[in-house]
Amino acid sequence: MSTALITGASSGIGAVYARRLAARGHDLVLVARNAERLDALANELRTANGIAVEILVADLTKADDLAAVSDRLRSGAPIDLLINNAGAALLGGVETADPAAMAELISLNVTAPTMLAAAAVGGMVARGSGAIVNLGSVVSLMPQYFPGIYAATKSYVLTLSQGLAAEVDPKGVYVQAVLPAATRTEIWERAGADVDQIPNVMGVEELVDAALSGFDQREAVTIPPLGDVALWNALETARATLPSGLGAVAAARYARHG
Ligand code: NAP
Repeated sequence: MSTALITGASSGIGAVYARRLAARGHDLVLVARNAERLDALANELRTANGIAVEILVADLTKADDLAAVSDRLRSGAPIDLLINNAGAALLGGVETADPAAMAELISLNVTAPTMLAAAAVGGMVARGSGAIVNLGSVVSLMPQYFPGIYAATKSYVLTLSQGLAAEVDPKGVYVQAVLPAATRTEIWERAGADVDQIPNVMGVEELVDAALSGFDQREAVTIPPLGDVALWNALETARATLPSGLGAVAAARYARHG
């Protein structure tokens, strides 16, 4: 028996993770703001799968709520799998963005997954096992197509995942970054966009099933819509090679002129 904590479990990708992990026999802790939706999902999964489901109603942009979820990860009954999924999008460029909306996005997409991963990982390392799944986005690899800070928040999630994996993989803890492209969920409508105007939108169940396949294969980074994995591997090879090109003196192209 193991227990998974899923943030943003009340809709979209998080709700599908909840159904899939329940079907795999995990007990669950479901986190989001909408208590009614969490209750309905919890009742459905208890009945269908005979598992235990806890609910934590929390707004992860609020320090007290984030601390309560962190406490559950740090000192409650062990959590073996954290799905760091809650997130939102913010459309429009930086030039015109509302500062308060940007700050809220950073607290939800950056601060919350960071603090929750930090809260979860200590116990996992102590037990020598566990997994953390962080929901990033393909837009972190191509921010030129997605104006504003959303892509940057997801870039942070990717870097956090890669750095954390290097730190805790040798200690038995698996870290996966999942990078969806456009997926049919409420995130678009919540951000004020019409998903039907977006090309190549993946179904949410297909996205989560592919992400779980990547999880089962212990991929460090899973990009469900990427057909040709050689493209990703080329990027990873360049990233792994780059440190060998760094020296203690400025590169010749920066030599002072005149
Ligand atoms: P979604 O259907 O809108 O789900 C977002 C979830 O996060 C909901 O359960 C929502 O629940 C929760 N949430 C939002 N604000 C919250 C807050 N302040 N505190 C706690 N929970 C909060 O969107 P989704 O597409 O499934 O998004 C899941 C993740 O996938 C996000 O990290 C998103 O960036 C990423 N992603 C999505 C796409 C896509 O095209 N859909 C593409 C790339 C990456 P409540 O409203 O009940 O709080």
